[in-house]
Amino acid sequence: MSMEDILMPYRGIHALPAGPPEFSDLITVYIVRGDKMNVMIDAGVANSVLDTSFLDRLDLVIITHLHIDHIGLLPEIIETYKNVKIAVKSGFKKYLTTDEGVKRLNETASRVLGDLYDIYGAVRKIDESKVIEVNGGDKIDIGEGKYLEIINTPGHAKHHISVLLNDILFTGDSAGAYFGDVIIPTSPSPFNYDEYIKSLKLQIDLKPRIVGLAHGGLVNPEVMSRHLEQMIKKDFNVDVDIGGIAGEILRKQIEVNLRGLRG
Ligand SMILES: [Zn+2]
Repeated sequence: MSMEDILMPYRGIHALPAGPPEFSDLITVYIVRGDKMNVMIDAGVANSVLDTSFLDRLDLVIITHLHIDHIGLLPEIIETYKNVKIAVKSGFKKYLTTDEGVKRLNETASRVLGDLYDIYGAVRKIDESKVIEVNGGDKIDIGEGKYLEIINTPGHAKHHISVLLNDILFTGDSAGAYFGDVIIPTSPSPFNYDEYIKSLKLQIDLKPRIVGLAHGGLVNPEVMSRHLEQMIKKDFNVDVDIGGIAGEILRKQIEVNLRGLRG
């Protein structure tokens, strides 16, 4: 089956580069359009190349988890789309909306990421009235028979959620990253191995037809099974070189991830 066979029946899904200029494809942000709602999944880094100028309306941004490479552009998005709401896992809103919460996100990121933190850019606080909380099992009707379902997928972070659009699964960082045909564990500290494996199995059991990774774009779902095998075997010899500055950033990010696995 070619990638075209997989993707052709779908309209209204955009996979957009949202990484820093040095490595724009490091992060993929997804936009899903329905006649009731346009929804974005994750929001890239603060220093992002993300361009949403084709989109005149945005109703909701679902944040898979509160790491700085998934929330950086929120202040700008809120500035651009006046009616947009931001959805995060129930109980975690304060990390986006209070000085203390944002400080904690930035401090943790700086400690875990080292100089990648400066490349990605600091997180800024957003207004409390903009943020709503969601839970696993919540369903959002976006129109045209399309439903988004929130799935609890802890492990990468304890508050991690994935989003299922009918049979397309957006995994955030709960199912690995994929560059140069190499699967990379998404496991920065603090990482919960057992929860991660459980979440990965749960997502494989959903049998999605397409998987949208936050790091690596739209992939065949068999990438998840290969990743599970790799995680169970603890086969973490991740050797990938995409060259240039992007290659350098990826190498550093892989080091961060592998450090988290060692505990
Ligand atoms: Zn990430």
